[in-house]
Amino acid sequence: MKISLIAHDKKKEQMIQFATSYRHILAEHELFATGTTGQKIQDATGLSVVRFQSGPIGGDQQIGAKIAENDMDLIIFFRDPLTSQPHEPDISALMRLCDVHQIPLVTNLAGAEIVIRALEAGFFAWREIVRDVDNLDSNT
Ligand code: PGA
Repeated sequence: MKISLIAHDKKKEQMIQFATSYRHILAEHELFATGTTGQKIQDATGLSVVRFQSGPIGGDQQIGAKIAENDMDLIIFFRDPLTSQPHEPDISALMRLCDVHQIPLVTNLAGAEIVIRALEAGFFAWREIVRDVDNLDSNT
């Protein structure tokens, strides 16, 4: 599965703790992240992470583009609901695209704890089927 990890500044420590706790599960998947979040995860866990631009300069939009291309399976996004973000429109656009394309999105640690266990249990296998059907469609 292709998983994107994003954390706003005040949630980055929480993301590091999350990635460290579930490193054994995350290591089985392809990881993507906005720039700073990805760097911090890499440094703390040694996991390999494809890093996009930092969120405020376009990283959320880059992840959104992957969603629009059916090339992303899960978004774990630790949002800071108490601080205004300069790139709020990009954040809204990313979440909207998750809804448009039925991509699982969690926006806090409580949700992430559930989806990571669902991932481990194989509950995301349907995404592979959706991707295969999409590939078949584009080849015909
Ligand atoms: P960052 O971006 O990981 O580059 O800090 C996250 C964000 O603020 O959207």
